[in-house]
Amino acid sequence: MIRHLLSSADLSKDDAVLILDTAEELLSVASRPIKKLPTLRGRTVVNLFFEDSTRTRISFEAAAKRLSADVINFSSKGSSVSKGESLKDTALTLQAMGADAVVIRHGSSGAPHRLAHASWINGAIINAGDGSHEHPTQALLDAFTMRRHLGDLDGRRVTIVGDVLHSRVARSNALLLSILGADVTLVAPPTLLPVGVDSWPVQTSYELDGALDKADVVMMLRVQGERMNDAFFPSAREYSRRYGLDTRRMRRLPEHAIVMHPGPMNRGMEITADVADSARSVIVEQVTNGVAVRMAVLYLLLSGSTDAESTEAREEA
Ligand code: ASP
Repeated sequence: MIRHLLSSADLSKDDAVLILDTAEELLSVASRPIKKLPTLRGRTVVNLFFEDSTRTRISFEAAAKRLSADVINFSSKGSSVSKGESLKDTALTLQAMGADAVVIRHGSSGAPHRLAHASWINGAIINAGDGSHEHPTQALLDAFTMRRHLGDLDGRRVTIVGDVLHSRVARSNALLLSILGADVTLVAPPTLLPVGVDSWPVQTSYELDGALDKADVVMMLRVQGERMNDAFFPSAREYSRRYGLDTRRMRRLPEHAIVMHPGPMNRGMEITADVADSARSVIVEQVTNGVAVRMAVLYLLLSGSTDAESTEAREEA
């Protein structure tokens, strides 16, 4: 197993499957009256959030606590970062506190890599979203959710729609899904596809309607207004008309297909409220699954992944 989780591309197929299988075992903990395992007792997990987050931060905190780790939550607002403290000095402080794992979200692409490779911290570094670059645990929880509905992902068709340019979720999903053997199609207006997308393991299209009929999964992306310093499409209305998922479009999907969104949603923009709340939507389930997947990642990175230990965790679960 790898030492840090910085990118989906760090994972071999075996690593990814081990995380998903371990998460499957750990999911049952959430439905018990006492939602706790002793596995990471005495270990310290720091959540280092330089950017806003609802689901990811809460989910990592719940995951660490359910494994009995000590959790320190750090958010840049209200800390000495707002007084100009550097990433290095912040990292050295965490090292002095004895962090065994640091979960980092940062507005700059590459910040988690810097932490992992500068050796300021001895613990495992987990990328919880860096700029427009990657968000590997989101991709893992998405793959986990798909697998629970569709079984093995080999040959499954996943259509990812919208603001791919600014989406770390899209990149991490494209990489992970191709490792798992799925076929990914990205659908976006030309202005919202990144330069160099031809080197990604995906197909691309500018037309949503044609990419729905055979999809097993359609994943809608948030239009990331906060990262847009230019006009990428003529108007919100036109965007919704061409790239939004509404009931009429949802009817084109095969019977078994599921609708996903990483959140936060712009209801009425990339997805209508009735689609988001429909029976095909697994958006709330994605959040539940996120805790189990992050438990698996913390467990495997912090306690090693020898077969004996994995078996023990599964037995405890
Ligand atoms: N929550 C996801 C992320 O942090 C997706 C989004 O913000 O649109 O990347």
